[in-house]
Amino acid sequence: MRGAVLYGPRDIRFEERATPTIRESTDAVIRISATCVCGSDLWPYRGVNPITQPTPMGHEYCGVVEEVGRDVTRVRPGQFVIGSFFASDNTCPNCHAGYQSSCQHKQFVGDAQAPLLRVPLADGTLVPTREVPSEDMIPSLLTLSDVMGTGWFAADAAGVKPGATVVVVGDGAVGLLRVLSASQMGAERIIAMSRHESRQKLAREFGATEVVAERGEKAVARIRDLTNGIGADSVLECVGTPESMAQALGSARAGGSVGYVGVPHGVTLDGEKLFYKHVHLHGGPAPVRRFLPELIEFVWNGKMNPGRVFDLELPLDQVAEGYRAMDERRAVKALLRP
Ligand SMILES: [Zn+2]
Ligand SMILES: [Zn+2]
Repeated sequence: MRGAVLYGPRDIRFEERATPTIRESTDAVIRISATCVCGSDLWPYRGVNPITQPTPMGHEYCGVVEEVGRDVTRVRPGQFVIGSFFASDNTCPNCHAGYQSSCQHKQFVGDAQAPLLRVPLADGTLVPTREVPSEDMIPSLLTLSDVMGTGWFAADAAGVKPGATVVVVGDGAVGLLRVLSASQMGAERIIAMSRHESRQKLAREFGATEVVAERGEKAVARIRDLTNGIGADSVLECVGTPESMAQALGSARAGGSVGYVGVPHGVTLDGEKLFYKHVHLHGGPAPVRRFLPELIEFVWNGKMNPGRVFDLELPLDQVAEGYRAMDERRAVKALLRP
């Protein structure tokens, strides 16, 4: 089997890797229908997170079950399944609380840019669809594995309610899908922060009512202007830089909420500033598993089409071009089909 392996900054290769097999009795092996490149894959790709050894890549996946271990009872070969980037048992106290990405037995699923994938804790991790979906539904179902699930979590964590004013910081794929999430949750005003015309357009398609192109303090001032000096009820942060976090905190009203799902790089918070902000902070790696059943229904019934976020589709063996296109911001998100 050949799959994607990252060797160092901007050096991703499609090369021979061991074919996954059932190792534990709770594993499943799935044949990937589609996978993709994540914004978070760009951190190691750009060398921001150092790579110490050749590392298989990919954590967003959906596909058809090939084989299951003897203790797997809830999924069976032939089913189409979607799972999260963290395998979880879905039975421990953290899972029961809805935080499967903090499962006591969580395992990262990190080698999905390949034709076959081993998924640990298959019963807790994988959610089957009612039948094998049509080809055109696969991109939308794939987004539920991370990017859409993460967008949904950001909106959920920021307490988006019908009628709310929402600010979305970041116009990457997750940012755009947070716009879609907030819109689906009934937000009245959705202010997207974006400087890129094509992304502004997609943000509006997904439900943004206003776009702010400014950055940093100017952006915060603009949000204050647009909200009569008050700030937004819910702010969704998905970049993970000190600037984006400051922008998010600055945009929230007193008593408002910031949902943050961008993996932080160098973000520190000033306790005193935070104290006087009166703001709710909730975020982290999205417990995608919690939302899968509901989001699968939305996609299945045509209530949302998050697959529109993919603006590049490549055969899996051209995975390197997928990374390049996203790194150079020629593409929002690259879909890969084996
Ligand atoms: Zn991801
Ligand atoms: Zn658990």
